[in-house]
Amino acid sequence: MILTLPSFAKINWTLEILGKRPDGYHELRTLLQTVSVADELTFELAGQGIEIHCDHPDVPCDETNLVHRAATLLDEFTGAGKGVRITINKQLPVAAGIGGGSSNAAVTLIALQKLWNVPIAPRDLFSLGAKLGADVPFFFIGGTCLGVGRGDEIYPLADINEEFLLLVNAGIAVPTRDVYANLPPELTKQSAVAKMPLSLEAAYAAIARPGEPLPLSNDLESPVFVRHPLLIEIKERLKRTGARGVLMSGSGSTIFAIFDSADERDGANRDLSNAGLWSASARTLSRAEYQRSLGL
Ligand code: ATP
Repeated sequence: MILTLPSFAKINWTLEILGKRPDGYHELRTLLQTVSVADELTFELAGQGIEIHCDHPDVPCDETNLVHRAATLLDEFTGAGKGVRITINKQLPVAAGIGGGSSNAAVTLIALQKLWNVPIAPRDLFSLGAKLGADVPFFFIGGTCLGVGRGDEIYPLADINEEFLLLVNAGIAVPTRDVYANLPPELTKQSAVAKMPLSLEAAYAAIARPGEPLPLSNDLESPVFVRHPLLIEIKERLKRTGARGVLMSGSGSTIFAIFDSADERDGANRDLSNAGLWSASARTLSRAEYQRSLGL
């Protein structure tokens, strides 16, 4: 039996650091969105053990790969005791703030429940996902979601729809851990509780007022830009090509831009590709489309 599934990327329309928690994690409020660029994962029942194949130079094929960790966790949790060969066709930039590794891990948990015939309850799926990484639980739901806590408490919201997006990556790998370890002090005060929304409606209203343009913002942008000035140039260049909004996604370094037409977007794509950057056209992926593509 062989199963092939897409593993889509995400962007963050907003990302707020609300403060540093007593347990050392940062309290976040972020508006997440699945977009139509993806890796492709193939799962094949095979012998014993977990075998990973990936020809991307920055992706390990050993037990540190998030896909390997996801498969091991599911095997331990369910006692499946079966083997699998997983091939990762890596199209998304790595350590790029668009959730490639987290998405791969989530898709692995979804696929292996089927391949190994070990269905687990949604509650257990979310808890295994959160162990693998804060962004993983989002990829069980997709579409537009509010993420709070470490970003792993996920609340589905009405889909935001943008047809003409461009994702740009300059090949600067920005490990998430480094970004959080070097935040300016004003972002890490223990003031989270005062800023937390009282209700989901209040949170959504604070982030995206229906009918009004999305107020894009990312608290991690300036700390990352200070260390990587090339990203400022990319953002300015995208603005000059006519983008309606431009923002760094997650902890970077991918920058996304929103355009009003395919022509404008394609022009910017040519401009950035000619400058030697990885640049991909995309659109938002609604929750229904996302879940259908994964057979959820
Ligand atoms: P992403 O690029 O997934 O948005 P990120 O920006 O949060 O992730 P990190 O959390 O720093 O980046 O994770 C990237 C690291 O994870 C890299 O060092 C990479 O080698 C490793 N990694 C392990 N498994 C995978 C995988 N399946 N896909 C991509 N990266 C992986």
